[in-house]
Amino acid sequence: MPEAPKNSYPSDYSLDEMNKKKLEFIENVTSNPDEVQKKVLSEILLRNAHVEYLQRNGLNGHTDRESFKKTMPVITYEDIQADINRIANGDTSPILCSKPISEFLTSSGTSGGERKLMPTIEEELERRSLLYSLLMPAKTPGGLVARPVLTSYYKSCHFKERPYDPYTNYTSPNETILCPDSYQSMYSQLLCGLCQNKEVLRVGAVFASGFIRAIRFLEKHWPLVVKDIRTGTIDSQITDPSVRDAVMKILKPNPKLAGFIENECRKDCWQGIITRLWPNTKYVDVIVTGTMSQYIPILDYYSNGLPLVCTMYASSECYFGVNLNPLCKPSEVSYTLVPTMAYFEFLPVHRNNGVANSISMPKSLNEKERQELVDLVDVKLGQEYELVVTTYAGLYRYRVGDVLRVAGFKNKAPQFNFICRKNVVLSIDSDKTDEVELQNAVKNAVNHLVPFDAAVSEYTSYADTTTVPGHYVLYWELSLNGTTPIPPSVFEDCCLTIEESLNSVYRQGRVCDKSIGPLEIKIVEPGTFDKLMDYAISLGASINQYKTPRCVKFAPIIELLNSRVVSNYFSPKCPKWVAGHKQWSSNNNKATTRIEEMNGKAQTV
Ligand code: AMP
Repeated sequence: MPEAPKNSYPSDYSLDEMNKKKLEFIENVTSNPDEVQKKVLSEILLRNAHVEYLQRNGLNGHTDRESFKKTMPVITYEDIQADINRIANGDTSPILCSKPISEFLTSSGTSGGERKLMPTIEEELERRSLLYSLLMPAKTPGGLVARPVLTSYYKSCHFKERPYDPYTNYTSPNETILCPDSYQSMYSQLLCGLCQNKEVLRVGAVFASGFIRAIRFLEKHWPLVVKDIRTGTIDSQITDPSVRDAVMKILKPNPKLAGFIENECRKDCWQGIITRLWPNTKYVDVIVTGTMSQYIPILDYYSNGLPLVCTMYASSECYFGVNLNPLCKPSEVSYTLVPTMAYFEFLPVHRNNGVANSISMPKSLNEKERQELVDLVDVKLGQEYELVVTTYAGLYRYRVGDVLRVAGFKNKAPQFNFICRKNVVLSIDSDKTDEVELQNAVKNAVNHLVPFDAAVSEYTSYADTTTVPGHYVLYWELSLNGTTPIPPSVFEDCCLTIEESLNSVYRQGRVCDKSIGPLEIKIVEPGTFDKLMDYAISLGASINQYKTPRCVKFAPIIELLNSRVVSNYFSPKCPKWVAGHKQWSSNNNKATTRIEEMNGKAQTV
């Protein structure tokens, strides 16, 4: 297998030499991806030959691709949930992986309303570091940067003891990034970024939603930041001693800069605020692919159209790949899966065109579908696939839930556009709500209408990101048989019941992160959904196949719905949400949260 570039090189190595090594590695692995993949699979199977899961499925120590494909099922999280629960409850026997599980990563994907737990092993950190190290040579020369990283990685020595590299040099001291209090973390990072404003060359966060949250935070708290820069002191709400010490090493009284920032922030219009406050910024480093594309207009507004750079595609299950053309347009971003990261397979996706949507649960694959899975080098240009991974940490033929489209090739390695998360209809931040969850939530809510002899005859939904923060909107058409008017409080109860019924990531966004606003129900005039159908048919949908879409995104449809709203109601309070995961809160396994849940704190400018 091509040797991965080292994390550190002798001190006499120049940046150019280090970059050269990394580029050579990319050339190498993309020139022989099939070979690398074969080796990755046999390595994973060899070292895990005796784990319970592989034995249970009868792999019998085979390490070749054919036996693996013939024997092993293609699975979803639910299929291994019992195994994961055993590990989470302290069973240290080799169930999925021969190496000790070092921690769980909590995915923003959910199962039964709870976050999925992804087991990981120590050495995965090395693989993740490798991917980060490949994110370097965009065009900008060294300087202070912001770069997406995840909490687990942040807390590891791989991050804290990283060798000097201009591409991982931040304006935020580690202490501010690692501070568990999100207000203090965000505040101190903004303060450090602003008091060194001329040195900042890139700004960013993992996902666009988190970056926008940082800007909104600044909109609210800039007077305090300005005061601190003017006087060279830190606001008393920042109480963490390590954060205070770290910030004080950077902060010096600078009345001139404070006056400049005050003047810019005081203006009513925040268009271009990023380039105004950080005049040397060359680009914004955020993921704007997938559902995050809804934030592109607002990012363009704040940054005056700076390039939006999506560098990597990663998940709790595995880090997948990098964007080798970081300065391309957001709509053209493609990720090259790095063949050493895991063994990748691809399940062809046959999507229905048009507006029609159906409610479906992910089902087990039948034999024929299993045979449809193809290897990394066998994917076809333009075709869409669901990603299936086999990882060093013990996931075997695991369906990640992402749909990718082949956009091109780097040498022999395919490059993929991120298309969507399978089945997800609504998303504001890291929440992912699918049709089935939405359907159940609506079903629970309509119970409030029963005493009034009313029912919901049709509904659809919309992720409204024009409000701050964004929020879910449900459009309801009612069928009313009773004569008693329905009081507003009943609809408010419906809003709250829907929120209570949604998954824990949604509720965390509402309660803890405040990244999602109160859910809204808009009641539309009778006949509205017929109009919606007429509209879809006018666009070419077949009347026989037409089903009401459970989520709408197309602007003319939203306009049509909004023009027929007769009343609207918001959730009157936050739904219930408790921190932690009920299944593992009482044992020794550490759980680490992905940064996007905390991206208020982990990002810097
Ligand atoms: P998590 O399950 O919380 O670890 O989140 C991982 C998921 O985030 C992936 O499976 C994707 O659905 C999404 N994701 C990660 N990177 C990207 C990207 N570059 N573009 C779009 N979506 C992404």
